[in-house]
Amino acid sequence: LLPLGAFIAAFIIGMVVWLSRRRLSPLGELQIAVRKREFIVHYQPIVDLKTGRCVGAEALVRWKRPDGSLARPDLFIPLAEESGLITAITDQVIALVVFDLNSLLVADRSIHIAINLSAADVGTERVLPIIAKALQHTGIQPQQIWLEATERGFVDIEAARSALARARELGHAVAIDDFGTGYSSLSHLEGLPLDALKIDKAFIDTISTNSATSSVTPHIIDMAKTLKLTIVAEGVETQAQADYLVERGVEYGQGWLFAKPMPAAEFIAYCRRAEIR
Ligand code: C2E
Ligand code: CA
Ligand code: CA
Ligand code: CA
Repeated sequence: LLPLGAFIAAFIIGMVVWLSRRRLSPLGELQIAVRKREFIVHYQPIVDLKTGRCVGAEALVRWKRPDGSLARPDLFIPLAEESGLITAITDQVIALVVFDLNSLLVADRSIHIAINLSAADVGTERVLPIIAKALQHTGIQPQQIWLEATERGFVDIEAARSALARARELGHAVAIDDFGTGYSSLSHLEGLPLDALKIDKAFIDTISTNSATSSVTPHIIDMAKTLKLTIVAEGVETQAQADYLVERGVEYGQGWLFAKPMPAAEFIAYCRRAEIR
């Protein structure tokens, strides 16, 4: 009788847990995901366009749901940003990057990892001590951690300017992400504490084999060069695009032509392979 009672009790508890989880709103689910640390990071290689050498990667978060499926960031980052949960997710990404890639980054100082910051992370220095603490007791240097800020992060331009300047003082490189897709004008760029500019895929898409290339793309490249920014082309899918970018003097590229985002172990293997080539 006793085992049967225990079985029934366990069944009822199981049902209650299942029902409560099922009735959760998307925000409730995301809150649990943050608490249970259900996030993982995939890494998309960034390569030297001339040599194909792997110079680093962008850390791209994924939500590994209890059923084992991976949710893409577009599905939960907007809600995380609205609700303020994003800062906790940023912190988990920082910890995962260090955990996943410590040995690779110590073995090869020339490799950097770019971490995406949301507007909530760009307007304050909050994230900087968290990164510093994560790097403590590792051999990873601050120079190996790049920070990507989108134009949306520059709502309070003075706050962003001082936080990013502080990040650079600490040794990080700062990249402006999705450049050209936001509302900020080119004049905003001048005087911002930046090291790199990522040209959005939308502009790379306009580069085609038959010189019908958008007139904007070469201007973005020229402007980045005038400002002495390292250029990273995003969403490079064809050899023709890569050739065009090399011709124009763009240093780095990222895109399906080279590799899709991948789990840490695969990225480490990818980098080692690209080194030998
Ligand atoms: P993003 O920062 O612009 O990242 C680049 C996105 O383009 C990634 O999508 C990547 O998988 C995709 N991509 C790269 N190369 C190609 C290509 O050749 N073709 C195509 N079609 N797509 C390409 P993903 O991983 O789905 O990330 C989407 C966005 O989610 C990111 O856009 C970024 O804004 C945001 N995100 C990702 N991880 C984080 C994070 O840790 N924190 C924050 N705040 N946002 C993140
Ligand atoms: Ca990015
Ligand atoms: Ca981007
Ligand atoms: Ca983009």
